[in-house]
Amino acid sequence: GTLAEIKERGKLIIGTEPTFPPFEYVNEKNEIVGFDIDIAQKIADELGVELEIVNLPFDSLIPALMSDKIDLIVAGMTITEERAKVIDFSIPYFNANQAIVVRGNEGFMPATLEDLKGKRVAVQLGTTGDLVVSDIKEIMVTRFQKFTDAFLELQNKRVDAVVLDEAVANAYVKTFPKFVVSAIIDTGEKYGIGVKKGNTELLEFVNTVVSNLFKSPYDLLVEKWFEE
Ligand code: GLN
Repeated sequence: GTLAEIKERGKLIIGTEPTFPPFEYVNEKNEIVGFDIDIAQKIADELGVELEIVNLPFDSLIPALMSDKIDLIVAGMTITEERAKVIDFSIPYFNANQAIVVRGNEGFMPATLEDLKGKRVAVQLGTTGDLVVSDIKEIMVTRFQKFTDAFLELQNKRVDAVVLDEAVANAYVKTFPKFVVSAIIDTGEKYGIGVKKGNTELLEFVNTVVSNLFKSPYDLLVEKWFEE
C-alpha cells in the first residue's frame, strides 16, 4: 500500500522468510525476530503504525509485493539487476558474500565454487546462493524453501554442502558446531528493502529511516542544532 493507505490501515505489513538468522528467525517463543525485524519495527514506529509480519517462501516475496499482499520485503534480500527490473530497493543496509558450509568431520573442505563440481549442494530456492551454484552445470543442486531443511539434508548426508549468505552461514555454524564454513565466495552483495515500483513516497520514507540508522547520536545532534 501507499504511505497514506498504511497510515489509514494502522498497520505496516512486511514479508519475510524466517529461516535466515540473525536477520529473521523464529525464537523459542515462536516469534519472528532478528536484525531485519528490528529495522521493520523502526519503520512502523516512525509511521506510527503496528507491524505485521507475513511468513512467505523467499521466492514468493516479490510476487506478494507486486500484488499488494505486503507493503515491504525485509528479508536480507540482495539488490540485483534482475530484481530491480520488477521492484524498487531502498538504499543498501548490509554487505554480504556467499559461504560454503560442509560437515566438519569428513575432510571435504571446498575452497572455491569449482571444488563443488560433481558434488550435491543444497540452496534456498531463488536466492543468490541458488544463482551462483546453478551457474556451474556440473554441480548437482537441490533447492529448498527453508534453510533449516537444507541443513537437515547436509546433516543427513544427502548433500555435500550448503551455499548461503556469509552472516547466516556463521549463525548456523554457531548453533550447529558440527558444520563449518569452508570458504567465502566474494560476491559483494548488498541488502535492500523491497518496495513496489511506483510507490515512491513509501520508498523515500524507508530510505529516510534507513539513512537515519547510520547516523550516530552525535550526528543527529549536529543535524538538530546546526543544520537546516
Ligand atoms: N541475500 C540472498 C538473496 O537475496 C538470500 C536472502 C534470503 O535467503 N533471505 O537471494
